[in-house]
Amino acid sequence: MATGKAPKLPSKKESSTVSNSSSSSQFIPSTNPSEPPSFYKKLDPPDVAQLGRSSWTLLHSIAATYPETPTTKQQQDMKSFLHLFAGVYPCWYCGEDFQKYIQKNEPLTKSQDDLGKWLCEAHNDVNVKLGKPKFDCNFWKRRWKDGWDEE
Ligand SMILES: Cc1cc2nc3c(=O)[nH]c(=O)nc-3n(C[C@H](O)[C@H](O)[C@H](O)COP(=O)(O)OP(=O)(O)OC[C@H]3O[C@@H](n4cnc5c(N)ncnc54)[C@H](O)[C@@H]3O)c2cc1C
Repeated sequence: MATGKAPKLPSKKESSTVSNSSSSSQFIPSTNPSEPPSFYKKLDPPDVAQLGRSSWTLLHSIAATYPETPTTKQQQDMKSFLHLFAGVYPCWYCGEDFQKYIQKNEPLTKSQDDLGKWLCEAHNDVNVKLGKPKFDCNFWKRRWKDGWDEE
């Protein structure tokens, strides 16, 4: 869904100054140690779906900021990362299937577009398993990098 100007992740050329609207980053201890401070929302731990949405956001965003022409080391690092990620994924059966997928389908890391499309296909493999529609991988970059806004 287009929502006006697409928010973008910062590129390396942009300032890395952290801007935080809250000027106070001090730790304020609770007056009652058995209760969290009242300004914490009491959110529950993630379920498989919530974990999945957050994880896909991370993975596709990593592809969106991966170099267009990565070095050999960057390609090796990305392959190692995906193997390790699958091995420590907090939903064990999801991680096991992802590991099997990676073994059958070696991650494509020669370019940003290769990685983005590979991840899109990996995500589609899970979509099919869960009975969800496939995403058209020609649009991965619009969904995760450029946004849908018309020029
Ligand atoms: C590695 C991994 C393995 C998983 N395995 C399982 C499993 O075995 N069982 C299980 O129940 N859940 C699994 N999940 C979670 C599952 O994939 C979903 O994240 C979860 O069901 C929530 O789905 P959703 O409909 O909110 O959208 P998600 O599938 O989380 O997608 C989020 C957004 O990504 C976009 N999108 C959808 N498909 C693609 C694509 N192919 N390429 C690019 N963008 C796309 C869409 O905009 C969508 O709204 C796994 C998640 C991960 C990261």
